[in-house]
Amino acid sequence: MKKGRPKGSKDKSKNAHLNRSKAHMGNKGQNWKGGKSKRENGYVLIWKPKHPQAKNGYVLEHRLVMEKKIGRYLKSKEVVHHINEKKDDNRIENLRLFENNGKHRNYHKHKNSSQEGSNNPNWKGGKITTKCNYCGRKFQYYKSQSSGKFCSKICSNKGRNREDLE
Ligand SMILES: [Zn+2]
Ligand SMILES: [Zn+2]
Repeated sequence: MKKGRPKGSKDKSKNAHLNRSKAHMGNKGQNWKGGKSKRENGYVLIWKPKHPQAKNGYVLEHRLVMEKKIGRYLKSKEVVHHINEKKDDNRIENLRLFENNGKHRNYHKHKNSSQEGSNNPNWKGGKITTKCNYCGRKFQYYKSQSSGKFCSKICSNKGRNREDLE
């Protein structure tokens, strides 16, 4: 009668138990279905699986906000810009629509070099350069603040008086 084979000293059941608990945790992770919104690269995504531009069921919230405002779906080449550069600030007053990314990028390029005119977020019609009706001096004015006829109050008074006389 042969002697018995040496028994393996390793207890495999211990490892099997570890694997089981690991797998269990994995399943728990997969069961998590997520919320109606999530964040990706600083942007807010909304669960809209039926939206024509949905990616994996999600749509960028700032595009949805803009679509609600203009009453139609955005074209894929249209770009919605965040005025204050905060990607998750999706209030409509913080959003600006660009026809395409070329115009959007152009806006970014000029924004830093000049804060005048339409590049200024506080733009109220822009500064206009014109000549004074009375003294002929060149001056700048804001459409929202002046009629743009005279460079100063003095010229305005004198000019109006002259207009009255004529
Ligand atoms: Zn932008
Ligand atoms: Zn003047």
